[in-house]
Amino acid sequence: MQFTELGLSPELLRAIGEQGYTTPTPIQAQAIPHVLAGRDLEALAQTGTGKTAAFVLPLIQRLTTATNPAAQPDTPLQRITHTAPRVLVLVPTRELAAQVLESVRTYGKHTGIRSLAVYGGVGINPQIQTLRRGIDILVATPGRLLDHLEQRTVDLSKVQTLVLDEADRMFDMGFINDIRKIIQRLPKVRQNLLFSATFAPEVRELAHGILKNPALVEVARRNAPAELVSQSVIRVDQAQKKDVLLHLFEAHGWHQVLVFCRTKHGADALSKKLDQSGIRSAALHGNKSQNARTRALADFKSGKLAALVATDIAARGIDIDSLPRVVNFELPHVPEDYIHRIGRTGRAGASGEALSLVSIDERIQLRDIERLLKRELESSILPGFEPQQKHATPRAPVGRTPERRPAAPGARPERSGRNGERSSAPRPARSGSGGGKPAGHHSGQRHR
Ligand code: AMP
Repeated sequence: MQFTELGLSPELLRAIGEQGYTTPTPIQAQAIPHVLAGRDLEALAQTGTGKTAAFVLPLIQRLTTATNPAAQPDTPLQRITHTAPRVLVLVPTRELAAQVLESVRTYGKHTGIRSLAVYGGVGINPQIQTLRRGIDILVATPGRLLDHLEQRTVDLSKVQTLVLDEADRMFDMGFINDIRKIIQRLPKVRQNLLFSATFAPEVRELAHGILKNPALVEVARRNAPAELVSQSVIRVDQAQKKDVLLHLFEAHGWHQVLVFCRTKHGADALSKKLDQSGIRSAALHGNKSQNARTRALADFKSGKLAALVATDIAARGIDIDSLPRVVNFELPHVPEDYIHRIGRTGRAGASGEALSLVSIDERIQLRDIERLLKRELESSILPGFEPQQKHATPRAPVGRTPERRPAAPGARPERSGRNGERSSAPRPARSGSGGGKPAGHHSGQRHR
């Protein structure tokens, strides 16, 4: 199928062509006709499947075509009468908000559509000024949108379409009550689109409550990570990991590597070490200002930085075309986070590599990840960096607190953090669950 067969307007097709896309991804091919028809939609699709364009393209079309009474954004009348947003996209993180906005602007650039993203961690006044001037599509994180509602700086009474993006993440991050409050402020008659990577029971319940006779669209689940991502493990002592990483950068001339650490402190320290060794690097985590994060991402995307060292929460939703390599400097405690991490590579048909540096202290995490993947990962030892530690340290490694922290009961985490970072609610670790046998490893030869 080609984009031209989806009934999209010439302005949208032009923007799509400028991106170099000709063929819709499966989620786009399935979802776009339903959204164009004004139907509610329940879509099971992860980041990396092209889900953003699957709702952005048809929604821009609905706002800008003559069949819609509220269309033709370039006419002076419309500018005067429609200052309030007609599409509201709720997303769990500011990074995702910025990325959805970027997509709206990319695909909508020949249409005159006006858009804005509101999220915490940056000043509210510029957002208020843009809202006053009038916008068509508003992308928002729930906490900041509630701030605007409380201050009466946003009017949601004209919203025709609500999009809940990464609904499962919204639950993980404790946003459900905020979402319910926001929904109460929307017109009762509207189109609803819900995108989620999983249909956990709570997501189903929410979907049941707000979607009316939805079309169901499901694309290959990636719990089940992209087949194009090759995954492997290097077994190494914790104390040697930095040297191993430097060795790999130097030996393979790596560039554009997304490196995951569990803690903000760890990410800072590793980024510094890489930089000192001549590998240009930046850290991305919740203590960084929004400006610093935006700059780091831009420098990473443009290739100025060879490495971006990120925590799980900061990396959520990072959208980088054809990222070649993800390195887990430390394994996540929640096995599903591993899937999210490696989902940053091997996107949209490109191949990718996910490499994990695993110390003996992380054997439980590795076992849980392999159970989730339902297979063992290829494991090897790097000559010259053979692990010496034979037993795990008796207690759990006391490092800095992982960035993923439980929210205080009743707290509004997005506003409680130093920089407005919303922390996530705890999720049960899966250690010891399931009946599969613990995964063993062979000691292979040198990794590549
Ligand atoms: P998403 O799932 O929305 O995060 O999109 C994943 C990546 O796929 C983004 O970098 C998009 O720019 C890219 N993408 C979206 N649609 C297409 C398409 N039809 N063909 C190729 N790449 C696409």
